[in-house]
Amino acid sequence: MSRGRGILFVISGPSGVGKGTVLKKVCEDMKDISVSVSVTTRKPRAGEIDGVHYNFISKNRFKELVESGGMYEYVEVLGCGYGTPKQAVDERLAKDEDVILEIETQGAEKIRSVRECVSIFIVPPSLSELKRRLEERKTENSAQIEGRMAKCRQELPCAYDYDYVVLNDDLESCIRKVDAIIEAERQKVSRNIKNIDKIIFG
Ligand code: ADP
Ligand code: 5GP
Repeated sequence: MSRGRGILFVISGPSGVGKGTVLKKVCEDMKDISVSVSVTTRKPRAGEIDGVHYNFISKNRFKELVESGGMYEYVEVLGCGYGTPKQAVDERLAKDEDVILEIETQGAEKIRSVRECVSIFIVPPSLSELKRRLEERKTENSAQIEGRMAKCRQELPCAYDYDYVVLNDDLESCIRKVDAIIEAERQKVSRNIKNIDKIIFG
């Protein structure tokens, strides 16, 4: 059934909570949904691919994009710029595809203020488990991990502003819950008026 326009999902949660891991599986499980590739001025981590995990750009290019109105939202996190490019998101939504923005809480607040979206906040079982995951990932040094833990303490109370909160304790269970939220949102009457009309009126 065509809904005529895709749904914009916004997913946030502290760095290291498992957003990337969960969303990779969600996009494999479900059809017609993908994660928007953000731009960032941060350096790629080992294994990160330009154009797949992020579009890695210079600070000058980032400034140009901001000034030309090419981003839905942008923030600076721990000295690096991150932003959501407008055009790629709009093109996919117009094709009836759902788009997920994996962004931090300030960016999510901005998106909620400018357009309709469904927001999900992923929480860790505890702060100690979050730190363990960041350490196990081995992509940041201890000062960077401390920076991410400090940002996490600021971000957690923002969970109250989201439509859904999902605990990522058992990974499979978290993935199932995010899949279920997406599926339920797709079935909302308000998003299927044209499909109902077609059945009734032919
Ligand atoms: P984020 O994208 O939120 O920064 P990642 O997806 O990179 O987080 O996950 C951080 C680390 O935690 C990775 O090493 C990942 O394999 C691990 N991880 C994710 N979910 C779980 C889970 N439910 N239980 C244990 N480890 C997890
Ligand atoms: P990381 O450096 O761990 O990849 O990302 C750091 C933080 O930036 C994460 O919380 C991630 O969700 C957020 N982030 C990634 N892309 C964007 C974006 O385009 N906009 C905003 N606001 N945050 C982003």
